[in-house]
Amino acid sequence: MTGVVQGVGFRPFVWGLARALELRGWVRNDTAGVVAEVEGTPADLARFLAALRDDPPPLARVDDVQVAPVALAGEPDFAVLTSDLGGAHRVLVAPDAASCAACLAEVDDPADRRYGYAFGSCTHCGPRYTIVRDVPYDRARTTMAGFLMCADCRREYDDPGDRRFHAQPVCCPACGPRLSMPVREAAQVLRRGEVLAVKGIGGYHLAVLADDEAAVARLRRRKHREDRPFALMVRDLGAARRLCQVGALEERLLTSVARPIVLLERVGQVAASVAPGQRSLGLMLPYTPLHHLLLGAVDAPLVMTSGNRSDEPIAHRDDDARGRLAGIADAFLAHDRPIETRVDDSVVKVVRERLVPIRRSRGHVPQSLPLPFALRRPVLACGAQLKSTFALGRDDLAFVSHHVGDLDDWATYQSYVRGVEHLQRLFQVTPRLVVHDLHPDYASTRYAEAREGVDLVGVQHHHAHIASCLVDNGSAEPVLGVAFDGTGLGSDGTLWGGEVLRADLRGFERVGQLRPVPLPGGEAAVREPWRMALSYLRAAYGDDVPDLPVVGHPHWRAVAGLAGSGLAPLTSSAGRLFDAVAAIVGVRDAVTYEAQAAIELEQLADRDESGSYLLPLDGTEVDGAALVRSVVEDLGNGVPVAAVSARFHTTLALTVAELCDQVRDGLSTVALSGGVWQNSLLLARTLDALEAKGFRVLTHQHVPCNDGGISLGQLAVAGALDAS
Ligand code: ZN
Ligand code: ZN
Ligand code: FE
Repeated sequence: MTGVVQGVGFRPFVWGLARALELRGWVRNDTAGVVAEVEGTPADLARFLAALRDDPPPLARVDDVQVAPVALAGEPDFAVLTSDLGGAHRVLVAPDAASCAACLAEVDDPADRRYGYAFGSCTHCGPRYTIVRDVPYDRARTTMAGFLMCADCRREYDDPGDRRFHAQPVCCPACGPRLSMPVREAAQVLRRGEVLAVKGIGGYHLAVLADDEAAVARLRRRKHREDRPFALMVRDLGAARRLCQVGALEERLLTSVARPIVLLERVGQVAASVAPGQRSLGLMLPYTPLHHLLLGAVDAPLVMTSGNRSDEPIAHRDDDARGRLAGIADAFLAHDRPIETRVDDSVVKVVRERLVPIRRSRGHVPQSLPLPFALRRPVLACGAQLKSTFALGRDDLAFVSHHVGDLDDWATYQSYVRGVEHLQRLFQVTPRLVVHDLHPDYASTRYAEAREGVDLVGVQHHHAHIASCLVDNGSAEPVLGVAFDGTGLGSDGTLWGGEVLRADLRGFERVGQLRPVPLPGGEAAVREPWRMALSYLRAAYGDDVPDLPVVGHPHWRAVAGLAGSGLAPLTSSAGRLFDAVAAIVGVRDAVTYEAQAAIELEQLADRDESGSYLLPLDGTEVDGAALVRSVVEDLGNGVPVAAVSARFHTTLALTVAELCDQVRDGLSTVALSGGVWQNSLLLARTLDALEAKGFRVLTHQHVPCNDGGISLGQLAVAGALDAS
């Protein structure tokens, strides 16, 4: 049996199954997975095999079961044997998992020895990836190595009939990690309106009461985080429903073992500075006994945002956290179980009953993703620059790393380098082929170029986006890929981001695009959307730009000169078109976080507005300037901004569908990738429009459509070319 079958209660499960069917033999781990020899009647053996496949323990994932007849050994009963783990390790380390119901019941049971204890876990739950230092996965190679099991825990650990049989993090109040402060006291810190640093599974969170405006505002100031929304942790589903609308799929996600942050439509009240300008809230449920105890003691929604300053990586080492969070947190609810690998919370949302991954990290990493072909040799894909991840591949598996973050930050870059080394060791992969973006200034590209003794391959950013979406859906077929993105370097040296590609894993041809406009000031144009408004207004009206508030910007004339000089780089980025429209309708001139203007433009759209504009299609080019003229005309006629925003979204969706229809040339599948597809309104209306034209539409299911998914796409493209 191969897959995620070690450290997840698989051998006890096999043992229990064999005993129930009165089979004889043994089970043990080996370097390839789990091996069992079983003796019994053919009917019982068939039942045994069926249950292996259909009913494995909650954290296990059985990829393959190979069966071969062996000579009868006449075993007296069924035994769990100690592991034989020499040689290369092919087994997979499991992701961290939220506390199971049985473990939480113990925490709440005054008669249990783990009553009120913050670190109970079993083979079905608890930390895994974040505590692993090396493979094979056993206690000595985790950050639990320093805690000597007491006799009671040892008994549970050694008993195949126990829920804790060979659960490496097993512990109790007598022998396990301890809190730095009683939970009751921590709750009082929060009630006083102070900021509490809470050490979790993959790093520190900063917590305040979510309905305490003064506290939330203070946390924002101290963290230097101006507008970006904070995530909340609520006690249970009932508390989630009081704040947000929770659909069936959203409920499943909230309560899943991965326990991601789920972005939900807000219906209740929290402090205004939790999520300024947003109609949604990011909620998660407690996923450790410590969270369970803390939320129980406070009994109110908490802001739980990552423990860092602005763009730095989340703090996870204790001394470092004490230092870096000293000016932010008033108190620390910490503990003495070290965190080996920092892992941020994962983020998802649901659009038209489709799961939309925004950030894939805790609870999912290092789960492998299957490739639709076999790699010829081990591959490392280095990813992009922002929201970066990297990916390792061997055989037909890809291991996409946890969310590392923006590599502009030096500390983040260092953790990227360490992360690559850690995952190479964990999966015993020595890359021979290293893949990077075409952008020469990405830190990930420079990292790739510095690797010695490997072959290097560059993959175009938007081809990687589309390939990532293909692999994410287990597909390798040719599709029409609509890559709507911020910016990425195109094969022609201009900045792409609004492309329609006819693509498969091995190659692509651009068959449509957003008409390029100047990007005046390069990076400055990303931070100051009014510059894109200028670029598009000039494209639409020449020097005769209509009188709009945005035109009054103090630097307008200087930047108009730059935009007209022919020196500004050209871009076909769809993200920048959103920026332009946001600035034109008056959402904002400058942003404090990536894509803020576009996000706020979406948030204010009137969902009931069904109107749209003339489709701005000119052959296979989308004429953004024509779309801007329609917007300006509406504004001149006094149409409310909420309606204008909705019409803009709808028009772009209809345009995408029409363009795909024109260039389909026998293709019936469209793949949507690139960060712009995180826009729920645009995605929903584009799905409607494409499906109305008979297209099957692939969207991401496991890795994000943003640059967090780039590494998987790079790996797929380079691997597919290398294999053929
Ligand atoms: Zn458990
Ligand atoms: Zn113990
Ligand atoms: Fe991108």
